[in-house]
Amino acid sequence: MVEKKAKDFFTEEERFAIRDAIVAAEKHTSGEIRVHVENHCKGDAFEHAEKVFGKLRMHETAERNGVLFYLAVLDRTFVIYGDAGIHAKVPPDFWDTIRDHMLSHFREKRFSQGLCEGIKLAGDKLQEHFPHQKDDKDELSNDVSFS
Ligand code: CA
Ligand code: CA
Repeated sequence: MVEKKAKDFFTEEERFAIRDAIVAAEKHTSGEIRVHVENHCKGDAFEHAEKVFGKLRMHETAERNGVLFYLAVLDRTFVIYGDAGIHAKVPPDFWDTIRDHMLSHFREKRFSQGLCEGIKLAGDKLQEHFPHQKDDKDELSNDVSFS
């Protein structure tokens, strides 16, 4: 079986479901969640996710509370990368339970379901430290992006 590349990795329906999960999560927190998918990850996954985070200009949120779910689908690599504003307030293992939960879905190839549930969990957790504000702006796109 040929492995699916980044752009075909999700069906249109799955992409919409992921976007809807982000929109729903961002109703509870000022944190901004994005999903980025590519084929291969160059070098160290965490450092690469940090670069992608910068390229997507995700550090330009007012509270520095952007979160990137990064997937390199052909390399089977996955990173949750949160910005400095989050890490100033939470313990270093903040993402671990979310990551483990998502990986349990990914192992069974339930990628969009794993993402949607991870996004919901991230929204719930971020809400404690970054509650939704009345004058909230949607600072970062909710659409899945690819490269
Ligand atoms: Ca927002
Ligand atoms: Ca957003």
